[in-house]
Amino acid sequence: MACDRDWVNWAIGRIEADFNRSADTHLIPVALPALPHIALYLKDESSHPTGSLKHRLARSLFLYALCNGRIGPRTTVVDASSGSTAVSEAYFARMLGIPFVAVCPASTAPAKIEAIEFYGGRCHFVDTAHEMYGAAQQLADETGGHYIDQFTYAERATDWRGNNNIAESIFSQMSHEPHPIPTWIVTGAGTGGTSATIGRFARYNRHATKICVADPEASIFHKHWHDRSIVRQEGGAGRIEGIGRPRVEPSFLPDVIDRVMAIEDAQSVAATRVLSRRLGKLCGGSTGTSLWACAVIASEMATRGEAGSIVSILCDDGERYRSSYFNDAWVAEQGQDIAPYERRMDRFFDTGLWDE
Ligand SMILES: *Cc1c(COP(=O)(O)O)cnc(C)c1O
Repeated sequence: MACDRDWVNWAIGRIEADFNRSADTHLIPVALPALPHIALYLKDESSHPTGSLKHRLARSLFLYALCNGRIGPRTTVVDASSGSTAVSEAYFARMLGIPFVAVCPASTAPAKIEAIEFYGGRCHFVDTAHEMYGAAQQLADETGGHYIDQFTYAERATDWRGNNNIAESIFSQMSHEPHPIPTWIVTGAGTGGTSATIGRFARYNRHATKICVADPEASIFHKHWHDRSIVRQEGGAGRIEGIGRPRVEPSFLPDVIDRVMAIEDAQSVAATRVLSRRLGKLCGGSTGTSLWACAVIASEMATRGEAGSIVSILCDDGERYRSSYFNDAWVAEQGQDIAPYERRMDRFFDTGLWDE
């Protein structure tokens, strides 16, 4: 497909102008008064116009597809998405005046579906995450469109050496802090793109920073990290939206990850609630997953008498999850008992103690 170069120039200009109008996201210090030698920060990706770190990814995916000549003025863009990516992609498709279809699991949060539709996108539902990829390809074939494929292209659409990617932004915002080079950066993995970008950036710049992926217990990424022959599983990957997959995605690069931690969904939900109360702002579930891993790492560092900083990511806004993670009836329906984990996380913030 040869695309109209004038239109492509216009489209890239629109996206660049939008970027030029945007501010960078904040790096929020999280107070741990009981652990004076450990500094914890959250990169607040919820403040992007579409509410999550997927705003960066969608911008990169559209630029990548445009520069590869895959999107023209009448191309329908299709992606497989559990929600957040589709919200951001719908935003960019609308900016370019082209149709967008999201292939979502039926379990996607209603608020995300509303957000996709708000930006003019359309949702096509499938029963399980495994069916998303095939359905997205099929829809693209039927419409003569482009399957923009976040799970394959996330790792390469982002400029890992810089260009204000999330890693470059974190390191530059850390530069005036007491421990400017983070000892650890903790993130979840959905596509794996964020961990790939941060891991590559740290290596390229020869920083000592290590990367930890906090993965839902039911997800495959942490299993694959330990045993590379494990690449696919039946069933789901837990209840934390945005992270955890039943298939090792092509954008997940285990070799740039230094550690993985398996976190139970109940622990993620508890940590999400405690953090949201302490920040005075609702965070999404994957932020809680990573926070749990941060608490483990902080307590290990404190036990060894180490000083340093830990950076994690506030991946999306919790308003989208009022009917799930913040709803007691939903939590009870999942059969989760989060109260002991909430107590443990609160005690960590109050006393710095983590061991049970
Ligand atoms: C996508 C996503 C992540 C993980 O980011 P990847 O770069 O895709 O691995 C974490 N949290 C939320 C809410 C997400 O949507």
